[in-house]
This record gives sequence, C-alpha cells and structure tokens, in this order.
Amino acid sequence: MNWNGSEKSFELFKNYVLQTYPTPGQYFVRGKGAYLYDEKDVEYLDFASGISVCNLGHAHPAIAKAVADQAATLVHISNLYLNDVTPRLAEKLISKCFDGAVFFANSGAEANEGLIKFARKFGNATGRNHIISMDNSFHGRTLATLAATGRAKYRKGFEPDMPGFSQVPYNDIEALKGAITDQTCAILLEPVQGEGGILPADPGYLKQVRQLCDEKNLLLLFDEVQCGMGRIGTLYAWQSFGVEPDAFSMAKALANGLPMGAFVVKRKYANILLPGEHASTFGGTPLVSAAALAVQEVFEKEDILANVNSQGEYLMRQLGKIISQYKFCKAVRGKGLMLGVVLDRPAGALSAAILKHKLITLTAGETVLRLLPPLNITRAEADLALERIAAGLADYAKTIEE
Ligand SMILES: *Cc1c(COP(=O)(O)O)cnc(C)c1O
Repeated sequence: MNWNGSEKSFELFKNYVLQTYPTPGQYFVRGKGAYLYDEKDVEYLDFASGISVCNLGHAHPAIAKAVADQAATLVHISNLYLNDVTPRLAEKLISKCFDGAVFFANSGAEANEGLIKFARKFGNATGRNHIISMDNSFHGRTLATLAATGRAKYRKGFEPDMPGFSQVPYNDIEALKGAITDQTCAILLEPVQGEGGILPADPGYLKQVRQLCDEKNLLLLFDEVQCGMGRIGTLYAWQSFGVEPDAFSMAKALANGLPMGAFVVKRKYANILLPGEHASTFGGTPLVSAAALAVQEVFEKEDILANVNSQGEYLMRQLGKIISQYKFCKAVRGKGLMLGVVLDRPAGALSAAILKHKLITLTAGETVLRLLPPLNITRAEADLALERIAAGLADYAKTIEE
C-alpha cells in the first residue's frame, strides 16, 4: 500500500471532497479491538466506535475472516437472484425477535425510509398517511427522514419539507394524544434518543404509546439505528422496555462497519409491501450479509449482551462518582453502553480535552458528552477510559469559570 500520510490526505480531502463535514480532527491508519492508531502509531482508546458502528471493535478476526472469505466467493448478484447467506441472516435476526420478516437496505436513513413507506402503504388503505415523531429526534438526512427528524436545523435550506409529518415532545403522552388526528397512521420514535442527547424513553410512556396505537389502529415504529444491535443491553432495544413495536429499523452496527440497514415488520404486516413496491440494488448483498451473520455469531460466542450490562452498570456508577466534583456536570444518563454525561454548557470542548488524553468520545444534543464504546470492552479498558475522562475533566475545569 502506498500511504499518502496525513498532510497529503488532508490536502486532498480539502480540495476534492465536498465539504459537508467539519474538517476531521484526527487521522487514523488502523484499528484493533477498542483501539485506533495514527500514522505515528499513537494509540487511542475508541469510545465512539465509528458512532456505534464497529460495536465489536476494529478488525475483529471472526468478522474480518467472514468478509474476506465471502469477498473471495460471491460479493453481489442483485436481488433478482437468491444467494446462500442473506436468507440465513434473515432467519437469525427473526429468531431473536418476534415473528416477522425483514427488508435489507444500506443505511439508517434508507431503513427508515422503508419504514415510512411501509406506514404510508398501511395508512393509505384507510385514508390516513400522517406520521407523528418526536422533538429532538434524529432519523436521517434523506428528505423523508429529515421531515421526521425533530430538529429543525437539519431541514433549514432544504425546504419545502416533505408533507405528512409532525413532532411532539418526547415522553409526553398527553401531547401525543392531543396531536393524533384522523390523518395519523403511525408513531415513530427512538427508544433511546441518540443524536438528541442520549435520552431514554420512560418505560411507562412506551407502554402507553403502545396502548394508544392499539386503540387507534396506528403503527408503532421504532428507530433502533443507534440504540439497537445490543447497544443498550438487549439485541433489540424494544426488548429492554418490554414493548413490541409493529416494525423497527436498524443499521449502524448491523454489519460492524460494512454498510447495512434493515427493517423488520411483524408477521401480520408482512403483506403490506408487495412485490415490486420496494427495492434496493445493494440491499442485503452476500458480502454485507456474511459480515452481519458473523456479528450475530460473535454475540452468541462471546456473550456480548452480558458484557454490555456489566460494563455499562460499572461505567455509569464510576462516571457518577467522577462528575460529582464538578458543578458543570449535571448527570450521567443512558442505558447499557449508550451513555451520556450531561453538562450545563456545550460539550465539544470537554470532548476535545479528553481527546488530548487519547480517548475518543462524541457529543450529542450540544450539551451531552456521548460515550459509545465497543460492546466487548474489558474492565481494564473501562478503567482506562475512566482515568482519561477524569484527566480530561480536570484539564477542562481549569479552563472555565464555574
Ligand atoms: C445514525 C442514525 C440514523 C441515520 O443513519 P445513516 O446510516 O447515517 O443514514 C437514523 N436514525 C438514528 C437514530 C441514527 O442514530
């Protein structure tokens, strides 16, 4: 491989890549488990996991092998023909879920687009096609998922908004009841809001939403793109709340870094979308399906969900102790290994201070420091992260007036 090095790469990026992202602060050349390495081989502990994508860490040997073997066998044939891998993946995903059927896509936004089309097809049969989603939600950057997203700043400049969407405050059952009209066909929400600030739904609220949907013949749709796939301690996020949606989406971690999205609908709704009514050229190729199947096998072999719960509880408890000395830290919240430290001010500078100690973190909803470590981190890695967070907090505290 002929490496450019970071300087040249930044120059090429600036000149030739459409500048829709902030200039990346870091340059990495390889990853291993929970660590990333820059060109000088400086080691960073990665508590972002590529935004909850590489949930089994970087370069997991079982997944690398599955991808390499499949790449050397069959990568893509289109959905006009059947392959040996994708149906096995579908069976595996449904075997851990309620009975239903799955559609494969390539991203979170595309999975949510599918959910939206599913809901409109369902609703239009009875003259309804409006979808209610939540304030502060995030559902993607395509036009329909933007219209569902409850943060106006993402839509600014891209008007007109796609019609048929409205938002209500999250965790507020009365507001939701008040917003339902004879046009409403579905309710869409994240069981734990990710981009909006690591905000879990109240379990009681989700049960009430479920009941409301049953009473009014509305579909309950969950966007599990970030909080699904084991992130909060159950494979599917709805399992943590004991509330079954009628359909839900997933993506990010589904194939541990290969682009894959999907949505599942309950068996009784498996005939809403008919042959020819929805499709995706790259959806569920043998290559990405092999990666996703390997992910599921690792989950079973390495008891990943038990680790999420034990490391998550530990991190939550220890973080609570660390932040208690700082008035600008308000709370630790989240579930499993989807954790947020809530500040009384923007969290970007704290994340940067922690990065100086070689721990990669994210922000969410402006004032929340977001932690999304790989789901297979060890206790030693959790302790190392805590040390680095404590060091970053101490540095940061010196730079501000409380
Ligand atoms: C990331 C995310 C999306 C969008 O996924 P893309 O793969 O970027 O299209 C949608 N919903 C939620 C909850 C997300 O976190």
